[in-house]
Amino acid sequence: MSNINHYDIIIVGAGPAGISTALHLAKLAPELVSRTLILEKAHHPRPKLCGGGLLPDAEVVLDQLGLDVRELPHVDVDWARFDFDRQGFRFRPDPGRSFAFRTIRRHEFDAWLVSKAREQGFLIQEDTCVKSIAVTASGVTVITDRGEYHAELVVGADGSNSLIRRAIIPHEAAHVARLLEIVTESKSEQSFHRQSDSYFDFMVVPQGIQGYVWDFPALEQGQPVRVRGIFDANIAPLKNSLPLRLALQEELERHGLHLSDYKLEGHPIRWFDARSLFSAHRLLLVGDAAGADALFGEGISIALGYGGFAARALRDAFTSRDFSFRNYKAAILRSEMGKSLRRRTWWAGFFYRLRWSLLQRLVWRRLGPLIIWVMHHYMIGWARRQAKRAV
Ligand SMILES: Cc1cc2nc3c(=O)[nH]c(=O)nc-3n(C[C@H](O)[C@H](O)[C@H](O)COP(=O)(O)OP(=O)(O)OC[C@H]3O[C@@H](n4cnc5c(N)ncnc54)[C@H](O)[C@@H]3O)c2cc1C
Repeated sequence: MSNINHYDIIIVGAGPAGISTALHLAKLAPELVSRTLILEKAHHPRPKLCGGGLLPDAEVVLDQLGLDVRELPHVDVDWARFDFDRQGFRFRPDPGRSFAFRTIRRHEFDAWLVSKAREQGFLIQEDTCVKSIAVTASGVTVITDRGEYHAELVVGADGSNSLIRRAIIPHEAAHVARLLEIVTESKSEQSFHRQSDSYFDFMVVPQGIQGYVWDFPALEQGQPVRVRGIFDANIAPLKNSLPLRLALQEELERHGLHLSDYKLEGHPIRWFDARSLFSAHRLLLVGDAAGADALFGEGISIALGYGGFAARALRDAFTSRDFSFRNYKAAILRSEMGKSLRRRTWWAGFFYRLRWSLLQRLVWRRLGPLIIWVMHHYMIGWARRQAKRAV
């Protein structure tokens, strides 16, 4: 411990997964707080492409950490609407609440989480990009653009393009969804969307896109805006699919908007694959680095959820001095979150292959009650079920 750059734990990435790991650690093993370093390549508040849709599961995890997202600017989205070409059904994930979900802006949300971790005493070093790691018999060497660090254990919370993941699995087939996003003014004369609702329209599935176009209300610097985009799970790549950009352009034109008027950005989401690796000797993966929702691309609650499993695995590793993390994957797969993720990957592989327009129309326009039932019982609400199981 004489070396100033030596820590017990280094968390790479100060997004929701990395910070949730830290905050759970502070609850479970407070003695590890001062022995943990968080490395982040950007500087908060940093830009992060994201719809900012925060499902009730995310709020359950935040609540367990003693955090209330209402401290931040947010929008209570009235209804989540699932459509096929303008018609479908509306849905509230938690029937006990008078709104569907909240939207936040990620630069604000992530900076807020970072401030909460700092309040707990964590050292978070920003503007430090991890370039490579090497696992040795005595620990992990972490090479950054600002010097070298050593740790007993490293957590890869570095997102969908995770470098730590590549250290664990150097070669693997692409398991990533593709997303494009823009932020537009809130009201367009021609738009048929209610300003208080969020929209998921699956009319792009027959065009070979395995996903939907979305439109969420949000607040940007106090002003109402719409965050819009397109999600392609890309779970079984198809020939002859419409380019995402073109599909998004067509969707915007239906609302009287032109894609060329806005800044278009893209980013992947790594989706969950139960057959994959989630850890290696001295290394753990969380959040997008481990795998998020393949069906809808919902990753914030999942990133927060991974934090609990990682913190327990870290605490147990130091208690037993066993740094293999051999039980980490099983703990995730057994959990309500893991079960939900497995089902979402399965449904994405099944459902998005059904390209026939008639079938998609039938699903979204006629089978709403069935879909709501499936979502409630098998996909969402995992955080509350998990908490009940733990009691
Ligand atoms: C366009 C788009 C829209 C989305 N919309 C939603 C939504 O509405 N609701 C929802 O729930 N999910 C949404 N998601 C998914 C969600 O954004 C992710 O699942 C979530 O951000 C995962 O959190 P994370 O902490 O694992 O990774 P990230 O949020 O990506 O954080 C990783 C952190 O690691 C840092 N980092 C990366 N590499 C290094 C390195 N080498 N060294 C140091 N630091 C590093 C990054 O700077 C970053 O701060 C969306 C994603 C996209 C792309």
